[in-house]
Amino acid sequence: MRSTFGRRRAAPAAAFSILLASTTAVVALQQQAAPGRFTALTVDDPAAAVDVATTPVSALPQADALRSGWGQFRAIQGESWSVHLDRRSGAPLLVEGPGIPWSVGKDASVASLGGSLRAFIAGNRALLHADDAELVLDDDASGALLPEVWQIVFKRVVSGIPVAGERYLFTIGHGNLISFGAPRWSRIDASPIPALDAADVQELLFSYMKLGADDVVDVVEKPQLQFIPLRAAGAQALAATGPYVGTPGAGYASALVWRVALRVAGDPGTWVALVDAQSGRIRSFRDDTKYARVKGGVYPISGDQICPDGCEQPSYPMPFANISIGAAAQTTTTLGTFNCTPSASSASTTLAGPYVRVVDNCGPLQQTVTCNADIDLFSSAGTDCTVPAGASAGNTHAARSSFYHLNRIAEHARVWLPTRTWLTNQLPDRVNLSQVCNAYWDGIGVNFFKSGSGCNNTGEIAGVFLHEWGHGLDQNDGGGFDNPSEAYGDITAFMSTHVSCIGRGFRQFGTCGGYGNHCLTCTGVRDQDWDQRAEHTPSTPAGFLATHCLPGTGPCGKEEHCEGYVGGETLWDLAVRDLPASGLDAASAWQLADKLWYKSRLGSGGDAYNCSLPNSDGCSAGTWFAKLRAIDDDDGNLANGTPHAAAIFAAFNRHGIACGTADDPGNQNSTTCPAIGAATLTASAGSSTSTLTWTPVANSIGFRIMRNDAGCQAATTRLSIATGTTFSDTALVNGYPLYYSVQAIGANSACDGPLSNCVAVTPQPAAGSVKLDATVYPCAGQVAITVTDSNLNAASTTATLASTTEPQVEAITLTRVAPGSASYTGSITLTGETATHDGVLSVTNGDTITARYIDANDGAGHANQQRMATALASCPVVSAVAKPVADGSFGTAMTGSRTDPAGSTIDVTWDVTTCASSDHHLLYGDLAAVASAAVAGGVCDLGTAGSATWSGVPSGDLWFVVVGNDDATTEGSWGTDGTGAERGGGTASGLCGLVTRNNSGACP
Ligand SMILES: [Zn+2]
Repeated sequence: MRSTFGRRRAAPAAAFSILLASTTAVVALQQQAAPGRFTALTVDDPAAAVDVATTPVSALPQADALRSGWGQFRAIQGESWSVHLDRRSGAPLLVEGPGIPWSVGKDASVASLGGSLRAFIAGNRALLHADDAELVLDDDASGALLPEVWQIVFKRVVSGIPVAGERYLFTIGHGNLISFGAPRWSRIDASPIPALDAADVQELLFSYMKLGADDVVDVVEKPQLQFIPLRAAGAQALAATGPYVGTPGAGYASALVWRVALRVAGDPGTWVALVDAQSGRIRSFRDDTKYARVKGGVYPISGDQICPDGCEQPSYPMPFANISIGAAAQTTTTLGTFNCTPSASSASTTLAGPYVRVVDNCGPLQQTVTCNADIDLFSSAGTDCTVPAGASAGNTHAARSSFYHLNRIAEHARVWLPTRTWLTNQLPDRVNLSQVCNAYWDGIGVNFFKSGSGCNNTGEIAGVFLHEWGHGLDQNDGGGFDNPSEAYGDITAFMSTHVSCIGRGFRQFGTCGGYGNHCLTCTGVRDQDWDQRAEHTPSTPAGFLATHCLPGTGPCGKEEHCEGYVGGETLWDLAVRDLPASGLDAASAWQLADKLWYKSRLGSGGDAYNCSLPNSDGCSAGTWFAKLRAIDDDDGNLANGTPHAAAIFAAFNRHGIACGTADDPGNQNSTTCPAIGAATLTASAGSSTSTLTWTPVANSIGFRIMRNDAGCQAATTRLSIATGTTFSDTALVNGYPLYYSVQAIGANSACDGPLSNCVAVTPQPAAGSVKLDATVYPCAGQVAITVTDSNLNAASTTATLASTTEPQVEAITLTRVAPGSASYTGSITLTGETATHDGVLSVTNGDTITARYIDANDGAGHANQQRMATALASCPVVSAVAKPVADGSFGTAMTGSRTDPAGSTIDVTWDVTTCASSDHHLLYGDLAAVASAAVAGGVCDLGTAGSATWSGVPSGDLWFVVVGNDDATTEGSWGTDGTGAERGGGTASGLCGLVTRNNSGACP
């Protein structure tokens, strides 16, 4: 018989000792960074805030020297050259025109073109304001954009010192110099001789950052001198805001600064400072970290393609993955982020890290990217060795999903069992092995099989990872294997997922057999909720094991997977039945069960219960019953019960593995814990941050901050402990939701309060954005608008909409989607009616619909930035769509009346106002055949008027209907019958030249 989820218990001794020897260098637990230690010191870069003052040369006074100089240039090169200057500097921002013939030989190079341009610059020195000595050819930025188009760039260096951000660009296209200019060319009036040297500056900066002797500082960039532009002071400064209007060429000042970049151990930032080389003033101090992520598609629960949790979800984090950046190494955070600097370096991963190393039987995985982009492993359809287009052979579904889930469960367990070094060792994770229908723990690592023989790939199923990993913890929890270890694995799986069906989607067809007690809905290997199996009966040794299980090595001498049902169901009952029955809410019951389970794992081994069929009990020191009670106890006295003793007894006794009776004093709930209530949590999303605040709770000494990325329905992991009532979670990923709750804790570690409410937070950038829910809209309907802005922090905001037809904007109010969220939504109705300022937006076919949002603060020092999104209105006059019948299902009902009751004439009217057609036809049949809508005949070409007289009506009881057409051979709908189905289906009547039927007519 197949042993589902087998494990090979005895690892070869030699291999085992090698493992120990190789892990003497224990990798430390991920340290919680001290978030924001230096954030309050931030000083914005003055150079970034200096605006240019774009001025057409024609706007200068006639007598101005610059204007006459450029006049001469145009007189020689052609009057159609356009010239825009920066009024602050007088240097050209952009000069473009009909082109100056420029020799570009076959063997032209950056160097040769740079040389020829130097002569041009020297010849026009008065206009370009550039000295030849300042220009350094920029080989990186220069080159052929196309075979016929060259870009040549010069950097600016004054007295051997670079000027930040200043350069001249020249474009030579098709044999002509066609444009040139400098984005900024400030006046450098600062002395190039620094009063402070590099060592002085470093000392000043350390003091500014209050760094102590214990701080480990990594100077990423040694101090380097540079010039930065400043706004001119004095009379030339004029208005503090708005474009510069002073004397042309007098708008800039400058400063000589030392630039230095450093990191401090424990802080996530890369801090860049500009320190004035004369005064020592900190001119700029900011975090320049270029965070990137390793991310990829992951199956949240199963690869069974039942969405959403059985379908691969893109952009999940790859936690704790080693990254090599050139020769340097890094490990991603739990959210998959890493510091991708220096930019333009190459970062790569193989999905190996301190805790998990994927070995994929499909081939090696290596994914590389140029910083600062994310390393995206992507997602794809298919299974087994299928990889996303262009990916390496080992970038499989199983590689990504197993790496994610195995890192998550180990992270969870490290919090509960901080002393178990196995949890900090690297776990080998072999996926896509060539067998099918199983997975196993081999004493050192976990192993997962490909799909086939009616089974899905076990490396794509969360519950299977968690089960096999559970065997690993069991072997390494300090007490050796528990018996049955299969229950241990299943419990570990459902404690994480809160799903009783272990390994959903393991089977491609049908549900699990349950050793004769069939699973009702579970497509995994076992369902640990007895009420989800055919007999609806709790499994006990004397009952289920004795009657359903084959012989084996379980405590009752039964096959271990079969016997695993008794222990597995017990813990499931504790979490979902007995703790809730004692008054805990569902989330708090799970949290307590999780704690009791993991905290009692240390040193756990041997039989989980005593068994000598038909008798069984939990009356020995190593049983799960005894161990859970020891963790639950609050007062050093088990004889008087424990805070949840009654619930624990109920769960274990239901399965015949408790000790004593329900009346025993030791099996009563009894607590010395003070009453500790639940906090109420509120949270708000910031840029890469979430901020939590909660209500104080009496009798607590602090709060566990719980977080996960799997959702409020799943297990959550302690992130931190707080003593106050606020917590700021930083270095998060914008757009990636996290789920938080907090739990008040008492002085006695057995005294926990319930969990607070669970709150989802999705961090978003401070730079706002606006989105429309479609790119093309019909001319009647709704447009939904979403604004995302994490530093707005208001209950509502406003966006405006305009269209080509209605250019005067309609303002609409957007409402925050949830308290604390950074997203705001609203909608506006589109109409084809004439434009009026009425709260709905008028559009006609081909219009552009424009939504605008004013971002008051982009988080980078800029105010009132306009954000925009556009879409098209598309509502062409469709003549080819046949209209539905005017049967009264919309508009006015059709009527038929006889002037002469005995005659053969019926006057018919129908609605052509609500839905006009180019022609109408009457179809009729025998009333007895109305259910099949069999057509007996028709009257063609009734026209567009909406009324007609039907002459020569046949005798008998008839049904009839008027249908529209498309002025060709397609007829519209015949309307719907009482069940909502189309009368007569989709087949045309064949009458009146109508050969096709279109039931999707555009009206109404
Ligand atoms: Zn197993």
